[in-house]
Amino acid sequence: MKQLKDFKGNIHSCSKCGLCQSVCPVYKVTGNDCTVSRGHFIMLQGLIKGELKMSKKLNRYLDLCLKCGACSRFCPSGIDVVDIIAAAKAEYFKSSLRQKILSFIQKKIVFGAFVDFINLFTPKAKSKTFDKKVLYFGGCGAKINGDKSVVKILNALGIEVINPSFSCCGVSLFTRGDLKGFNQSIENFVKILKKYNIKDVVTTCASCEKSLKDYSRWAESQEVKEFLRTINIRNIYEYIRENNLKLTLKKPVEVTFHKPCNIDNYDDIKWFLNNIENLRYIEMNDYDKCCGLNGISKFSEYKIMAKIFNNKRKNILKTNTKYVLTSCLGCEVSLKLFSRNSYSVYDLINFIANRI
Ligand code: SF4
Ligand code: SF4
Repeated sequence: MKQLKDFKGNIHSCSKCGLCQSVCPVYKVTGNDCTVSRGHFIMLQGLIKGELKMSKKLNRYLDLCLKCGACSRFCPSGIDVVDIIAAAKAEYFKSSLRQKILSFIQKKIVFGAFVDFINLFTPKAKSKTFDKKVLYFGGCGAKINGDKSVVKILNALGIEVINPSFSCCGVSLFTRGDLKGFNQSIENFVKILKKYNIKDVVTTCASCEKSLKDYSRWAESQEVKEFLRTINIRNIYEYIRENNLKLTLKKPVEVTFHKPCNIDNYDDIKWFLNNIENLRYIEMNDYDKCCGLNGISKFSEYKIMAKIFNNKRKNILKTNTKYVLTSCLGCEVSLKLFSRNSYSVYDLINFIANRI
């Protein structure tokens, strides 16, 4: 598994030009260089050289990064900040008993017992059989949101859904720096995939998609890495567009959409929305700007989140639509939290499935 020192070259390639400041939503609110890539890299260089020690304060600056990737897309040196922050967080995780306890609670209680409890009362949706099959990865968010919508939509389009029980994709462990825990999520995923022997995997959650696509880079075992490279992991919208599948809603409706940072296939979502009969899609300004929430850890930074969200709210209201759709449980929470009852927020797939 990669460690912070493995990113020494990438960190060193930062020219300190400061261009990342102009796109970083956190920097725009805080004005503090320690909360943007340039500042992160200066601190991490000090850490690698042994001039700085990992501390609670440094970890807070790392935690403030939303991992939205806006700086990476803009950076002249093309530095991928998300992986570097994950490796740095792993350094803090090793030295922090508190983080280890929180991670244990996350694994065993939040994404273990709690998800198992939900499973007890929400039997898995059954799919019709068709020649064409995909395997659906429904992580814990999808369990809360329900898998019926995915089955209903794909069945309506003539696709059979293989719907095994998966546990969490591990995104929160990755964000916390528990890379061992994240590797366990990778191995669980591979074990289930091998059992069903199917290469087409679809997911609906942006965070699950990002994690699954990152698995082959972060897996410890070479054999697992190679196996993962043979699997087609796609967002459900990418799959629907590739197969030119179209839906019709029972009644006309207007919607807007917030793009979660973790998805890189917005074009497929736009195509999906624009090709639904009876649906009018209104694209909001800055539809791709981060909502300010990066996992539940950011609740402790409520004031910063609220300031970042302010622009998002203005842009939603300008569309004059009642319905805001998104495809990430975290974004859904954030959009609802700041809605002040001005609009309703829905998971994209559930919203459409309830109207076909
Ligand atoms: S834009 Fe890239 S190279 Fe410039 S300071 Fe930010 S991280 Fe460094
Ligand atoms: S990933 Fe987003 S929040 Fe983090 S430093 Fe880059 S622009 Fe800022």
